[in-house]
Amino acid sequence: MWEERWHPLREEWVIVAAHRQSRPWSGAEVGAPVAAAPPFDPTCYLCPGNARVSGAVNPRYTGTFVFDNDHPCVGAGAPRELTPPAGIYSNRPATGVARVVCYSPRHDVALAELDVEGVDALLETWQQQMRELATHDDVNFVLIFENKGEVVGVSNPHPHCQIYATNFTFKYIETELQAGHRHLDATGRHLFQDILAAEQQDGRRIISRRGSAIAFVPYFARYAYETYVAPLRTVASIAELDDTERRDLATVLRDVVIRFDNLWRMPFPYVMTLHQGPVKGDARGIHFHIEFHPPLRRPNLLKYLAGPEIGGGNFLSDTSPEEKAAELVAAGGPHYRTKTA
Ligand SMILES: [Zn+2]
Ligand SMILES: [Zn+2]
Repeated sequence: MWEERWHPLREEWVIVAAHRQSRPWSGAEVGAPVAAAPPFDPTCYLCPGNARVSGAVNPRYTGTFVFDNDHPCVGAGAPRELTPPAGIYSNRPATGVARVVCYSPRHDVALAELDVEGVDALLETWQQQMRELATHDDVNFVLIFENKGEVVGVSNPHPHCQIYATNFTFKYIETELQAGHRHLDATGRHLFQDILAAEQQDGRRIISRRGSAIAFVPYFARYAYETYVAPLRTVASIAELDDTERRDLATVLRDVVIRFDNLWRMPFPYVMTLHQGPVKGDARGIHFHIEFHPPLRRPNLLKYLAGPEIGGGNFLSDTSPEEKAAELVAAGGPHYRTKTA
């Protein structure tokens, strides 16, 4: 495979040059064995009952647990009086809210190892956070994301995600919003609905489906194993899903992360991000979805961002989205570690 594919959400070309990929992984490269984490770690600042750097002590929580980040990148404490920079440059206060969401009290249970009820409870927590953060004056947008694995810079294995609630809309979502707007004005249809229709028409890259939710490796994937998880109904935010839709989404989301872990029988690193419309103003044209960007192409083999990506701004993919989707389709079943469906 050697072609360019149009990424309609980012409005850019992706170079797919799968013929450059070296011979398929033969099994020689295996991930370093990961020492099993204990269920509770007395030195972990996320475990129940432990103290954090701020001195605050975590409650003995039993479900999800949300707290304000002790080292926020945006927050109420950011300086309001700023020195104006020179010339055309501009700045403004870094206000907003930064939070951490622990998935469960268990230090050793990743998203893929939670049961469906646990994943659904996390999704419900995200819904509550979206509703609450929308009431803050200095919050216009909410980015919910999980960095998973040391390869993406996470040293604490206690499963958690982060929330950045900001005064601005993050760049990729801004691009999706504009693309969605234009498509809606030009065709009367939602761009993401047209993507869903094309994925279902082709069918080869769909890796999971349940009721009102679907998961697929997009035609225009930039990363090997890049996966989107989405409700079939167009909503701007997870907060708009009803209980049945949320449960379906939890089922598909869990199925996807189990497949990731099963693929190489190791904890699979990724950056997971919820793409949602701004909590204030016009969110028309956005269809809420969850994007996974896994950094590995093979066990121990990183996708390095270099000249094309960092220097030029377009991705060069060495893998075929159809082949990678087929690998994930084949990696279903119970999680390799828990052995339960
Ligand atoms: Zn912990
Ligand atoms: Zn997106």
